[in-house]
Amino acid sequence: MSEADPVLTPHKRKPDWIRVKAPISQGYMQTKALMRRLNLATVCEEAACPNIGECWTKKHATVMILGDTCTRACAFCNVKTGMPRPVDPLEPEHVATAAAELGLEHIVVTSVDRDDLPDGGASQFVKVIEALRRETPSTTIEILTPDFRNKSEAAVEAIVAARPDVYNHNLETVPRLYPTIRPGARYYASLRLLESVKRHDPSIFTKSGVMVGLGEQRLEVHQVMDDMRSADVDFLTMGQYLQPTPRHAKVEEFVTPQAFSAYAAIARAKGFLLVAASPLTRSSYHAGDDFEKMRAAREAKLASTRNPSEVLRG
Ligand code: SF4
Repeated sequence: MSEADPVLTPHKRKPDWIRVKAPISQGYMQTKALMRRLNLATVCEEAACPNIGECWTKKHATVMILGDTCTRACAFCNVKTGMPRPVDPLEPEHVATAAAELGLEHIVVTSVDRDDLPDGGASQFVKVIEALRRETPSTTIEILTPDFRNKSEAAVEAIVAARPDVYNHNLETVPRLYPTIRPGARYYASLRLLESVKRHDPSIFTKSGVMVGLGEQRLEVHQVMDDMRSADVDFLTMGQYLQPTPRHAKVEEFVTPQAFSAYAAIARAKGFLLVAASPLTRSSYHAGDDFEKMRAAREAKLASTRNPSEVLRG
């Protein structure tokens, strides 16, 4: 491909705060070998996540179910697009085996979009949750689902009934940028999905994330925070968008760590139970530790509403 190809946009040079370690540890190699042996895809690899060295060294991997091929082609995402293979009936057992062998206290399970399936893949999420509860009952479960376009109500109902501990669905960006960045999705449909999780079961933690650096304005990000809070989202994650290949949407800005701290302060003031905002924050980054923090924050909040004077004295 020539340099003059108008389809390609050059990678912007990454600032120092984005640099990460190369993935060469023994833990990394073991995690990789296990995923291949069980025929499991991971979003860590498919999305070219910059944290893979750190996470896999600690044997934290985010499993991507329903295959490795997505029916959509979002401008920010590195996952392969095309006609997916049939659903693997062994996948739920393999996910449970991976969780057991990695000794996971908390697992994050995500998927590609499967607009080709009548239920969008919801029943496979349910089977994975059931297999995990059976095989590794002490592992807490976080799912990161697609928007289940045009079938989200039934999908959410089925998945919520299986009782994951955390239901995550990312809004990804501000509504103005949806037509270019997430053309197959609708901002308000995603918001309604998050709201309907809480409507079906208020005890399930909800979580959502946005990428910054795609050309969004600060006040637009604040509005997204307000929208999430109106859907009663508990946990906000914010990270820097990185262009996976020259064919993907280009980075408009590298947001500084100081600007991330300012976003985090605003988000906390808006009432999220937990906020993770830094250049390398990703949906599943430190998900296990953050789950414990979220649980503690909810306990503290409940205690304060039960007995405000205790909290004031404490
Ligand atoms: S941050 Fe999430 S996607 Fe990235 S390597 Fe860690 S577990 Fe995988």
